[in-house]
Amino acid sequence: MKEKSSSSIAENIKRLQDEIAEAAIQAGRDPKEVTLMAVTKTVPAEEVNLAIDSGITLLGENRAQELESKFLAYDKEGVDIHFIGHMQSNKVRHIVDKVTMIHSVDRISLVKEIDKRARAIDTVMDVLLQVNIGEEESKSGVLAKEAVDFSKRLQEYPNLRLRGLMAIPPWVDNQNQQEHYFSKMNELLVDIQAKNRDNKSIDVLSTGMSGDFIAAIKHGATIVRIGTAIFGEREYS
Ligand SMILES: *Cc1c(COP(=O)(O)O)cnc(C)c1O
Repeated sequence: MKEKSSSSIAENIKRLQDEIAEAAIQAGRDPKEVTLMAVTKTVPAEEVNLAIDSGITLLGENRAQELESKFLAYDKEGVDIHFIGHMQSNKVRHIVDKVTMIHSVDRISLVKEIDKRARAIDTVMDVLLQVNIGEEESKSGVLAKEAVDFSKRLQEYPNLRLRGLMAIPPWVDNQNQQEHYFSKMNELLVDIQAKNRDNKSIDVLSTGMSGDFIAAIKHGATIVRIGTAIFGEREYS
């Protein structure tokens, strides 16, 4: 059953914030380094606004069309919106004015389109490079071994700024295995910081989700993208 009451969303957020802080402290990190993103796919705008009332300051959107239909209804004061879904190039122009970061950059043709559309509205778009860390056929993202070269190529595009890495690792039920992928992502971020000239702003690691965020935080996650654990199971119609 999908939890819909405002109290359950508020309780879920409170519990997650406590768990995130605890995981950060366990890892010797400052809890302020980790931001809880509410992933809104399939969730009505009213419920997203309840999450914002309960302290959420960052939303994650998967689909351009869904963002366009809910955007006006969101209580956006003090809230950032990031795009986290697979991005079709022809949708970029619909979202560049609505989001402050795109997590799912995975090919140069998309980089070119973001650069062009950001320039058209006189902005610089923050982006993350999506890495297919488990080398899965079904997932987008560059391979880990391609990531450093790809990150350097981004420097040729002035209206786009590389801020870090994103991954959706293979689902595994075991914390040791989860940690394997997250620690590889963390190592890759360090490598990219070392090999890019403009590396001062490369500091974002967008990794954990509802089922694995504790392991992600242990290995450097700065954004955890959480849907189910806030809003309940998704209902796809
Ligand atoms: C849906 C989604 C999430 C959230 O997944 P949950 O398991 O519901 O927390 C995170 N990241 C991306 C890219 C997603 O599409």
